[in-house]
Amino acid sequence: MAPRITILSETVTNKIAAGEVVERPASVIKELVENSLDARATDITIEITGGGKRRICVTDNGHGMSREDALLSLERHATSKITSDSDLDSILTLGFRGEALPSIASVSRFTLATREAAHLEGTEISVEGGRIRDVRACGMPTGTALTIEHLFFNTPARLKFMKSNETENGHVGDVVSRMAVSRPDAAFLYVSDGRELLRLQPGDLRRRFSQVVGKETSSQLFEIHTQSDHASISGFISGPAAARSGPNGMFTYINGRFIRDKVVQHAIMQAYRGVIDRGRYPVVALFIELPPDEVDVNVHPTKHEVRFRRQTLIHDSILEAVAEVLRTSPWLSHHTIRATKPLSALSQTYRERVAQAAQTFLAMPSRSFSPAQNFTTAETRQSTTTGIPPETVHETTVSFAPENDTSQSPGYFSSLTFIGQLQREYLLCQSANELVIIDQHAASERVAFQNLKKEFLSGAVESQRLLFPETLELSFSEVATAERFRHDLTTLGFELEPFGGNTLVVAAIPRIAAEKDPLGLVRDILEGLTQLGTTTAFANACDELLSRIACHTVIRGAHYLDSNQAQALLFSMDQTDFAASCPHGRPVSHSITLRELEKIFKRT
Ligand code: ADP
Ligand code: MG
Repeated sequence: MAPRITILSETVTNKIAAGEVVERPASVIKELVENSLDARATDITIEITGGGKRRICVTDNGHGMSREDALLSLERHATSKITSDSDLDSILTLGFRGEALPSIASVSRFTLATREAAHLEGTEISVEGGRIRDVRACGMPTGTALTIEHLFFNTPARLKFMKSNETENGHVGDVVSRMAVSRPDAAFLYVSDGRELLRLQPGDLRRRFSQVVGKETSSQLFEIHTQSDHASISGFISGPAAARSGPNGMFTYINGRFIRDKVVQHAIMQAYRGVIDRGRYPVVALFIELPPDEVDVNVHPTKHEVRFRRQTLIHDSILEAVAEVLRTSPWLSHHTIRATKPLSALSQTYRERVAQAAQTFLAMPSRSFSPAQNFTTAETRQSTTTGIPPETVHETTVSFAPENDTSQSPGYFSSLTFIGQLQREYLLCQSANELVIIDQHAASERVAFQNLKKEFLSGAVESQRLLFPETLELSFSEVATAERFRHDLTTLGFELEPFGGNTLVVAAIPRIAAEKDPLGLVRDILEGLTQLGTTTAFANACDELLSRIACHTVIRGAHYLDSNQAQALLFSMDQTDFAASCPHGRPVSHSITLRELEKIFKRT
């Protein structure tokens, strides 16, 4: 009897490999451009027609191949990039598996034209469905040109999975962008159906990344650069205003290779927690350089995934590096920080004024006024305060008392001149050359959050016992959560006792939230903690919880602030890290430059 098992022919194995490496036109382009970069090309042109389904052509000015190498390059497992298994531990090229060219050639009509500088003539090889049809001499400049026509013509099942031209074009554009960002020193041209979609001249990373992610984002990019014993992390990260609804602006690279890695993404997202809203993503170009033996790129044929030898270490290095840049709120510093009076003249009175304002602010119950009074200037307010009876009085402890150090020169927010309040929700302020609008609710939430966080980190969140402990009906999983995190919740100032079944006794809550609805707060906190899941460590959930508490402490909705109170709020914003967005990531302030106003009024 003939054996059941046969060894597959190379044509078949190539087709199988193609199933992994070549998913769609974009994956062909990824492989070809990687080869061009590995061949030290500095000028790469990508042309496609019909979404790349009809034709793909990648031309480079790299070192090219001899005829012998060109023929070899089409064999499976033929590569110039590694020679032995020990090389696998120190891969510095983008390719190394020797699979791409034979795989692509097995599922398309394929032409490879290439010339080395040392030879006067080049070689052109035509392949169809993996079979070499023709090898001939050709005239061409040094470099390589690969043409792929009718991709998947002989794998109809795969062909059916191709999407519209537009969709495939989009995928190709994404791939080209990622490669282009990784190599700002090389020129890239991407043409689709005769239309030039991307033309990138060699330049620096800031320029290249801005060209790829768009001009609006470019003013929001801040440099990051750290070097530690185990990793170097560099690139650009965006401020909160540039956040997007998807992760498509996140470009992360390990040793020059674009990757989509959960560990890396998690570290970045964690650093942005509290700076941007949940469900929003920052724009980043982050280059992580590691010794090659610290990272395994040979996890998947497409090499988009990696494995780190010391995962936690890498995670924390990235987290710290990104958080460090964000901590200084660099997106604020590109505002011209200029006081309206010279600082020297200002400092004494300024200090007094703010200290006094803070006192008044803390002592005063806040008032809401009739809706007719939509816009109140600081001056007119002064004279009308007594005339209008308060509709509601919020009994509230205001949590953003400015802290001790009033000796410093004013920060950005303190240096603003308060003009007035709009709709009792926004502070209108003026700096040297712009109108600054501040969302007072978001701002006070931000300040409360930071103060609370400081208390929490120093282990001193002040707790307040309720005069009469209250009972609360919850879901069983929420009661279980309260049990599970009992100790941790105590550090946040809560005292919660199970009362049997799904009832909980609330005995104490954080002092700063004491004046408000304590049961609502406990419910909210437990709901949040339960949602975050059993695997989430309390530490990870903390910012989220603190921001929930902060949210409960500040006044919602319209709320009148007089100029002293407004100044006190501005002052405390300067005492706060991340003052530019509220804990939920909504922006706190927005400025309109005089130029923009001039445009609106057509004065220019
Ligand atoms: P790998 O990149 O993993 O080595 P490929 O199948 O992608 O495998 O390419 C096989 C070989 O062909 C490469 O190792 C390289 O020597 C050569 N090659 C491919 N593309 C180019 C190119 N654009 N310029 C010069 N050499 C190339
Ligand atoms: Mg390759």
